[in-house]
Amino acid sequence: MNPPSKNAPDFERYSRQILFAGIGESGQHRLAAASAIVVGCGAIGASTAALLARSGVGRLRILDRDFVEPSNLQRQALFDDSDAADSLPKAVAAEQKLRAINSSISVEGIVADLTPGNAEKLLSGFDLILDGTDNFETRFLLNDFAVKNRLPWIYAAAVGSYGVTMTIRSCVTACLACLLESGEQLPAGVEETCDTIGVLAPVVQLISSLESAEALKLLAGKEEALHGRLVSSDVWTGRFQSIPIARNPDCRACSRREFSYLEGEAQPHITMCGRDSVQIHERSRSLDLAALGARLASSAEAVRHNEFLLRFRVAPYEMTVFADGRAILKGSQDPSVARSLYARFIGS
Ligand SMILES: [Zn+2]
Repeated sequence: MNPPSKNAPDFERYSRQILFAGIGESGQHRLAAASAIVVGCGAIGASTAALLARSGVGRLRILDRDFVEPSNLQRQALFDDSDAADSLPKAVAAEQKLRAINSSISVEGIVADLTPGNAEKLLSGFDLILDGTDNFETRFLLNDFAVKNRLPWIYAAAVGSYGVTMTIRSCVTACLACLLESGEQLPAGVEETCDTIGVLAPVVQLISSLESAEALKLLAGKEEALHGRLVSSDVWTGRFQSIPIARNPDCRACSRREFSYLEGEAQPHITMCGRDSVQIHERSRSLDLAALGARLASSAEAVRHNEFLLRFRVAPYEMTVFADGRAILKGSQDPSVARSLYARFIGS
């Protein structure tokens, strides 16, 4: 018997998936050679990343701008108490966990905020983009990038007990702009956020399962098995819906090919970031967090840092600064407060 080739998947590990007729040996080889980027590693992103790592997708990139907090642990299945106690960036914690789940694939965590300016650099080179984001600004940016570059991506969102997902293939299916910019009435719940009405862990798992199954079909080369519908469900009421979405012949993105989010003229420098928080990303630079911590020791309270971020309190606010110069201010949604605290403590 010939020894397995270097890139051949471990057939014992994936035996139950290979036995499944829809995947088979050839599908498993395709998965091993495939790559995907998970944008946003909150609840849906973490579960989707874990499912794809276990399934043997050969290369995964996890992109996230945030750090693990105790309020994440109820539903963000890759993280645990110690990640929250250490305030680890989610991308860093996810990379560690995914490598422990499957050491035979390549996993890379990147701590960054996706913007029009860095989208090309961060998203390029992957076969599939998976939505783990929590906002429509970023989803429209993903949609613009994917449609422009004719890459597939999978929209997924959950809030309360309700979730929705749709697989988008440029010029084959409707895109997110066909769905949301055409003036049709939106499915209930699409515009709520989990910071205002909460979210149940089971709906997160359901939606990430649906997203991951579609991802496996695409990456294993089984496009004919894609369901081609907007699927929504509510785990509290038990209501499930699956509806076909037509392309809009006058769609801004997939018909007129106007990529206004990717061009990003209107990208604000201070953006809402959850309830009672704002993110400041006016300019990117490299910060020496240890030196900044020493400098802040006399003027701020509870200053602490790890190799990825520094946090301090100036009552009633709490600021978290990342090594790339980005910061998240908790305790206010007022951009002028954020700007002035940033200038005073970090420097303008
Ligand atoms: Zn469209």
